[in-house]
Amino acid sequence: MRQWNKCAVIRHVWDLLVMKESLWATWITKNKLKKLSFWGITKPLDTSWNWRNLIKLRQSIKDCFSYKLGKGNCSFWFDPWLCGKAICDEYPVISLEDVDIPKIACMMRKMMKFLESSVNLGSSQSILLGITSELNILRCLGGKLFGGSGCIPKHSFIAWLAIKKSLKTRDKLKRWGCIDNENCVFCNNAPESVEHLFFECPELNAVIKAVMEACLINRDWISWRREWSWYGKKTNGKTMLAKIIRLAFMSSIYNVWRGRNCIIFEKEKITGTVIKSWIRNDILLKMFSRRNNSEMFLKLYQNWIRLV
Ligand SMILES: [Zn+2]
Repeated sequence: MRQWNKCAVIRHVWDLLVMKESLWATWITKNKLKKLSFWGITKPLDTSWNWRNLIKLRQSIKDCFSYKLGKGNCSFWFDPWLCGKAICDEYPVISLEDVDIPKIACMMRKMMKFLESSVNLGSSQSILLGITSELNILRCLGGKLFGGSGCIPKHSFIAWLAIKKSLKTRDKLKRWGCIDNENCVFCNNAPESVEHLFFECPELNAVIKAVMEACLINRDWISWRREWSWYGKKTNGKTMLAKIIRLAFMSSIYNVWRGRNCIIFEKEKITGTVIKSWIRNDILLKMFSRRNNSEMFLKLYQNWIRLV
């Protein structure tokens, strides 16, 4: 009898998950789940006996379902899309508040492809942080960071290549047997990788700090991935400040790469100060073309003028 009941419950859940066109499934999706996953909603107290029991049985029937990623109606946190496991079950110690992915975030096949090409999807806990940062970056890729108004296309392109780790950095060139020395051309003290150039290199730290200060950001640099993820969130707006941060961020990536290329191919001596002045010119030029009398504009403009 109990087994039979379980089958009946699984059938109901199935209708719900595949969004079957039944009155019950439609009503539950609209009124009980709203935008959340069936596997992730909290246990309701003031609801019918039937629905409470259905929710109670979730863990025991979860294994009966397997997910194949599709166009995006799969919950990032709660649906078992990662080798049959849900992220929240696989990594129970991770708090949703600690990472940047919202509770209602969805997972899609194209995101998985991107992750597979850029993150080693092993089973360690640190991978999750990698995944969530990647997803934020992914949001940026499809969103405002790269395509917002006022962006300079060549900057966007280089920043996009950097985030995709498609720039031909010296560590890669050495691995491919093209060069012998993989050291960074600015500090000559560590292999040149995307992480190192943007922006772990001690020679460029002062540049980034100055740029951040000019954008009214007072924050310690943690790691390039966390920072990019953070920038993705900060620049997701239409305010003057968000636009300037977006421009400064991409101009920094572009000009570091430009400086590195000048050193290698033109044999010029490019220091952090030179790169800082390039970034300053880019931002001031953009600001001048969009000048206004707002308090924020004047404050930012003065900051950038003072940046030397
Ligand atoms: Zn360096």
